[in-house]
Amino acid sequence: QQDNGFFGQPAGLQTLFFTEMWERMSYYGMRALLVLFMTAALQDGGLAMNVATATAIYGLYTGAVYFMGLPGGWIADRLIGGQRATWYGGIVIMCGHIVLAIPSDTSFFLGLILVVLGTGMLKPNISALVGQLYDDGDDRRDAGYTLYYMGINIGSLIGYLVTGYLMENVGWHWAFGAAAVGMFFGLVQYRMTLPKLGSVGQDAPKPLSDNGRRLSWMIITAFLVGLGVVFVATSTGAMTIDPVAIAQYVAAAATIVFFVYYLSIFLFGKLTKNEAKRLGALFLVCIASICFWAGFEQAGSSLNLFARDLTDRMVGTFEIPTTWFQMLNSGFLIALSPFFAALWVNLTKKMINPSYGFKSALGLIIMASGFIVMFFASQAAASGMKVSPNWLVAVYFLHTVGELCLSPVALSAVSKLAPKRMAGQMMGIFVLTYSIGSLLAGLIAGNLDPENTSTMPDMYMQITLFGIGVGVVVFFIALKTRKWEALAGQPDPEHV
Ligand code: GLN
Repeated sequence: QQDNGFFGQPAGLQTLFFTEMWERMSYYGMRALLVLFMTAALQDGGLAMNVATATAIYGLYTGAVYFMGLPGGWIADRLIGGQRATWYGGIVIMCGHIVLAIPSDTSFFLGLILVVLGTGMLKPNISALVGQLYDDGDDRRDAGYTLYYMGINIGSLIGYLVTGYLMENVGWHWAFGAAAVGMFFGLVQYRMTLPKLGSVGQDAPKPLSDNGRRLSWMIITAFLVGLGVVFVATSTGAMTIDPVAIAQYVAAAATIVFFVYYLSIFLFGKLTKNEAKRLGALFLVCIASICFWAGFEQAGSSLNLFARDLTDRMVGTFEIPTTWFQMLNSGFLIALSPFFAALWVNLTKKMINPSYGFKSALGLIIMASGFIVMFFASQAAASGMKVSPNWLVAVYFLHTVGELCLSPVALSAVSKLAPKRMAGQMMGIFVLTYSIGSLLAGLIAGNLDPENTSTMPDMYMQITLFGIGVGVVVFFIALKTRKWEALAGQPDPEHV
């Protein structure tokens, strides 16, 4: 008897859907005001930082959040299991937001560190747990991830609305506090509905020996103590750190770690031939994901500036706030998710089962075609007149359709193609593609200057051609990796 207790999906999805929804509410709600808070003047309650430092800290923070997913996934696989990792991660995140709500410089940085550590534990593991709700042959997986992804975006939309309102009408620290309350709701509902998960993620799938455990805990403790020492040293002024330099370092480290870790799994992961082929197919999806986010993440930077400086945001006497454009993505995503979830289920029923590689290529190409729209929009803006907001609406629509083809599907691919004993780590590796993509997005956006509109159309055309080009290459390679993907769930006689 198939468990279909949550919109035709396993009942455990309800637990994970709402927990991740609240976690993302706190994450995006807080993230939306981070740069604004850091750069606001002291008399306005901000930290009065210059823009370069604030954006470097922002980049460092978002990079670190996803970077820590790798150790977080490993801890679940080898030490505590996904359920506990999600729970403790959530508690640490909530503590981080509580600390952020206390107005002082020291508490600000401590709060950020806690959110980074907690998210590293929670994010990859909760996403890996979703996949474990399905048997190998269960073809509801892609649709299940699409529904889960909708939860992510309901959370981000609530986050933007609530913290945006509180920030403007009550005060910064109330907005940070709201993020803590959101995570608290997430934890309460996680605890209450945990039985729906059953034994999924209860234990580490490949636990270490006793000695290995002891050593690992010692290393983790040493890392935390080291972090604590650096924190105290910097907050007392005994040591100074340069966030701009560290931000660059973390970005490079994420890229190197991604490739080295992937390679070392091939070399030392005791993979069977089938497992190696499946991980080869997954590698293609990861590369597509990096390129996808490198375009998509322009939302916060170059597209945001385009909205602020070059878009006619007046409707009668009302001026549309720039931040509302960011919410278009969440809004479109929520509206379109049910359609995509149904599409994947129907295609499978009709035995048309597009491969993960194919869907990733499609997502990339649709996202890139959003930049064709930007090409025309920026040409119109180059004439000196502010352009209609409809351009950006069309861009965000295409970006969201691309996101739905690629992003939830890629999560599903990780859960299906990675060996079960490495479920958390592989999700951690995948989450690194977010970091690398955002880093590239930052570099690309650095070349787009809203003051200098004449060079913009060319830049956007280059992004379009690059995205479509990579998409086409991924498409052709996917013709090959499709066969490797099909090995998932098949008996693996040489399993070690
Ligand atoms: N919106 C998605 C999430 O929060 C993807 C995040 C990202 O930056 N790639 O899970």
